[in-house]
Formats: sequence, C-alpha cells, structure tokens
Amino acid sequence: MATPFDKRIVIVGGGTAGWMTAAAFSRLLPSGCSVTLVESEQIGTVGVGEATIPHIRYFNQLLGIDEREFIEATQATYKLAIEFVGWGDASSRYMHPFSAFGSDLGGIDFHHHWLAARKALPDRNLDAFSLAAQLAQADRFAPPPPDPDLGYGYAFHLDASRYAMFLRRYAEKRHVTRREGKVSQVDQTPEDGRIEAVVLESGQRVEGDLFIDCSGFRSLLLGQTLGVPFESWKHWLPCDRAVAMASDPLSVLPSYTRSTATATGWQWRIPLQHRTGNGQVYASDCLSDDEACDQLRHSLNSEPLSDPNLIRFEAGCRAHSWEKNCLAIGLSSGFLEPLESTSIYLIQMAIVKCLEFFPAGDDQTMSRDAFNRWMGLEYRRVRDFLILHYHLNRRTDSAFWRHCASMDIPESLKQKIELFQESATIEHYEQGLFAQPSWLAVYLGQGELPTGVDPRALAAPQASVVQTLEAMATRLHQLAQGAPSHREIIRRGGLTREPAAAMSLYGERHG
Ligand code: FAD
Repeated sequence: MATPFDKRIVIVGGGTAGWMTAAAFSRLLPSGCSVTLVESEQIGTVGVGEATIPHIRYFNQLLGIDEREFIEATQATYKLAIEFVGWGDASSRYMHPFSAFGSDLGGIDFHHHWLAARKALPDRNLDAFSLAAQLAQADRFAPPPPDPDLGYGYAFHLDASRYAMFLRRYAEKRHVTRREGKVSQVDQTPEDGRIEAVVLESGQRVEGDLFIDCSGFRSLLLGQTLGVPFESWKHWLPCDRAVAMASDPLSVLPSYTRSTATATGWQWRIPLQHRTGNGQVYASDCLSDDEACDQLRHSLNSEPLSDPNLIRFEAGCRAHSWEKNCLAIGLSSGFLEPLESTSIYLIQMAIVKCLEFFPAGDDQTMSRDAFNRWMGLEYRRVRDFLILHYHLNRRTDSAFWRHCASMDIPESLKQKIELFQESATIEHYEQGLFAQPSWLAVYLGQGELPTGVDPRALAAPQASVVQTLEAMATRLHQLAQGAPSHREIIRRGGLTREPAAAMSLYGERHG
C-alpha cells in the first residue's frame, strides 16, 4: 500500500556525502522510497577528508557496519585526539582529546581546581588529566575503561575514497540505483520552481520528488539552480587553499592527528595503515601555491607517494541548506576548513536531521525551517570554535598570525571568550558540537589563563587538592603506559567486541 513516504529520491553526487546519504537512506527509509544516485567519474570527487570525530561510530552502528570490517576496508586507524603544535606560541604543544579532563571535586568542575593548584603542579599540564591524551602521547590505543571518570571517545583516520566505495557497495546491495553521467541541465516546474528532473549529457532524464544535492563545491542544485546565496566567513577564517599529498605509512603509528601551525596557516598529518595523509592549509594572499607545495614536501615525515593535489575553497555556508524540494548535504551546503575534522560530522548530522524531518506530505514548511535552523546553528558552532584557534594564537612571527589575533570576531564568540577570561566559566549548550572540555583544551593549550576562578576551588584545602590531582595524573599515566601500542591493535584488525577486553588491555604492553 502506498504511503506518504513513497518518494523518488535523487542524489546528485557520489563523494563521501552522496554515498553516506545513499547508504543511510537505503537502510533507514521505508521500502516504498526509491533512491537513485547520479555521479560523474569525469568530474571525480574532492578526494580528501581523512580525519573524523567519534560520531562516525554511531553512523556506522546505525547502518549495522562491523567496525573491524570497516577498518580493513578503509585502511583506517584509531584517533583519540588532535595534537596542536605551535598554535599558542611557536613552541607550544597541546592535545585536544575526545575526553574530559580530570574528575569534578566536590561538585566543582575539575579545571577550576587545576587552575587554583597549578603553580604547585608545574609538571602536570591539562593533558596529564586525560587518559585519551596520555594514550595518544604514547602512540597507544585501548578502548575506554568502564569507569566513567576515565571515559573517552574515539574516532578514525580513514581513506575517504575507500569509505565512499565501501558505502557504495553497501547501498547498491540495498537497491540504490547508480547512474553514471554528468548532469548538464536541471528541469524545474514552471509554476513554483521545484526541481522536477536532472538531465544527463547522454540525454537521459532522471525524475524525482526529492533531490539531495551532494555535488560538492559546485552546489549544482541548491546554489546554481535554486540560487541560494553563499555566506562567506573568509574574514574570520582567512585560509582559502590546501595542498594535499600522501606519503609512506609511519613506522610508529600515532593514535592522533597532528596539526602544526606554520607562518601562514597550518599543516595536517593523518596516519592511515597504507599511507600518511599530509596537507598544508594556507591563505593565498600570504603564500603562493608553489611555496606551499615546497613547504609541505620539506615537512613530510616519510617518503612521498603522490604529487601535490591543490584545492581551492572559501570558508562559509549557504544561507540555508533546504530550499523547495532540494536539500544540500556536504560541500554543496558549506565548508569549514578541516582543522577539527568536522565535515563528515556535518554530513552525518544533515542526514540524520533529514530523516528526522523527512518531508512526507506536500507542505514541508515547518520541517524545512526546523532543518535549516538546526544546520545553521551546527555550522555556526563549528565556525566559532575554529576561529577560536586562530584568534587565541600567541605568535608574533608573521603578519598572518598578528592579523588573526587582532581581527574582529563574531559576537557569539567574543562573549564566550570574555566569560572565560573573567571567571574560567564555559557555558554549556545542548545543541551542536564542542562541549566544555574541547573549549578548555584550546583556551588553556594556547595559554589563555583566566583572571578569575571559582572561589570555592581557592577555598578548598590546597595540599589535599594537589595530592589528589597528583594521584589522578599518576594513575592515568600508568594506565596509558600499560596499554598496547596502536600499531599492535591495528595489526590485530581493531578492537574485538568482547566487553571484558576493555580493562584487560591496560595490563598488556606491546612496543
Ligand atoms: P565531492 O567529494 O566533491 O563529491 C561531489 C560529487 O558530485 C562527485 O561524485 C562528482 O562527480 C559529483 N558531481 C559534481 N557535479 C556533477 C555533475 N554536473 N553531474 C554529475 N555529478 C556531479 N572532512 C573531514 O571530515 N575530515 C577531514 O579531515 C577533511 N579534510 C579535508 C581537507 C580539505 C583540504 C578539504 C577541501 C576537505 C576536507 N574534508 C574533510 C571535507 C571532505 O573532503 C568532504 O566533506 C567530503 O569529502 C564530502 O565531499 P562531497 O561528497 O560533498 O563532495
């Protein structure tokens, strides 16, 4: 029997966004929906995007994907943190782990105690209070222990092209139809401008009720056809180029991404099983493409495997992602540079929200507006957090960093920073990425010490607090040193599903 959910869905684009969407729809929508994906081998995909955040595990779980199978297929490794090198002053180094720091004492957030006691703990920076950071620093990996005070999330470094291929096989097995060809025309209804069909160069016409624009930076449907404007955030996020280059795998396999600030931007290093992903992100008015390629080549930690791949972009997003019967997912809806590995997360959120607000009837105004509000906020949360890294730098060695430190920033971010400076407080928010520990990692990692602190932390008996914090840090360090090397876990094909495995791995040291 037909239902209001019986729709012909057409996805334009077969990059990470297109195949993630197709795979999720094939698994989660009622069987009356048909899904067709159109992609063009001639155009290809953006071909980068290797670091993720823990949410990807929930996406894979939603699809019933086995973690070990996924690791094998995508040549993935585990990721516990990002290490930021040279983002405070040029010699600074800190971890942004997927975890909180320390445990609350007497109902007061841990970091207030650390701030109050830190002069008595000169060797214990914030990283000493995160098991994930300790494991990452030792190139080790183990699943989070069952003790909630020690908990952390983990994500993956993956080969995004292989992930798209993996999801393509998954989706095609579940009756997603793939059409090869370049869309050369988009037909709209004369009365209200809704999209009716896309027409391929071959003349083939693919009709649909709902169109998902996954066409990448081109934004073929949402931007080019429906005219939804692009809102540029370049004045806050000045980097507009990246050059990417693969090199041999590293002999010691880090369980973290490295982000190293350079005079005009930053470089990434992402360890995969079969190669290392490297890239340089920069502002084109401060560095030429040739200079960027040279700098990247000279910074590689292993032998190059490919020529440099140059990518132009502009930070920002479309004014909204859902217009008429078209939703944009992925680069077609916006892009914020890969500093905190958020693009695949934004794709995932758009898919989940699209399913949640799935347009069943003809009138979709409420669903559309709710979706647009949600995605707009997601983008702005990520935007503010990325700007924070640039704005709070303490480098004086280049015009680029001096500009970032003195530039005007969004009001929403200004208020957050001022609140932290005054009182070491970080407000919680319910919706959107980056909870309190993430903000803390960047503030304190980049040397932003607040003038105020919770007075109750100052009033607590300092000798006893220092002793407690020392014991906490010692325990985390010992646990991390007892865990197996990341390479060993990958050699075993990833984590097993046995629940008892978590704690026992911490007594097992390899390499
Ligand atoms: P694309 O990969 O560009 O795919 C577009 C698709 O549309 C292709 O299949 C193309 O053939 C098709 N298409 C376009 N026009 C037509 C047409 N006319 N007819 C038919 N088909 C068409 N994300 C992360 O999460 N982590 C990272 O570490 C990360 N690093 C990045 C580094 C850089 C430098 C950049 C630029 C991005 C990075 N990203 C990262 C983002 C990530 O690469 C993308 O979000 C992701 O790959 C999704 O891309 P997409 O599928 O939207 O677009």
